[in-house]
Amino acid sequence: MSDALKQRVLVVEDNPRNLKLVRAVLEHSGFDVVEATTGEEGVVLARQSSPDLILMDLQLPGIDGTETLRRIRSEETSTHVPVVAVTAFAMEDDRDQAYASGFSGYVQKPISVRDLPVQVRDFIQLGGTA
Ligand code: MN
Repeated sequence: MSDALKQRVLVVEDNPRNLKLVRAVLEHSGFDVVEATTGEEGVVLARQSSPDLILMDLQLPGIDGTETLRRIRSEETSTHVPVVAVTAFAMEDDRDQAYASGFSGYVQKPISVRDLPVQVRDFIQLGGTA
């Protein structure tokens, strides 16, 4: 499949090992992967790379994932892209908080190599407005 036809996922993640894993899993499943290691960089790449989905680590150096989401949503060009929180929290309260903050959904760490591509496809189909 040519790169132009691939669905593109922007991964905002500061941990190099997690980033490497997510990239490998998604590329193996046919996605085009764009990486940002800070929220600030994520805002720029959300604008410049026209991703079909953004996976957002919540704990980042500089601005955190929630603030990064807020800035992405405030940009006209990337208002409707689904943004999915990647969270280490398993608590229902934290899941609710992710939705309350405006995330389209969430996936839990540790990342499931088997489930992630399916989750990403489902979130792209659902779109950015939950
Ligand atoms: Mn982090």
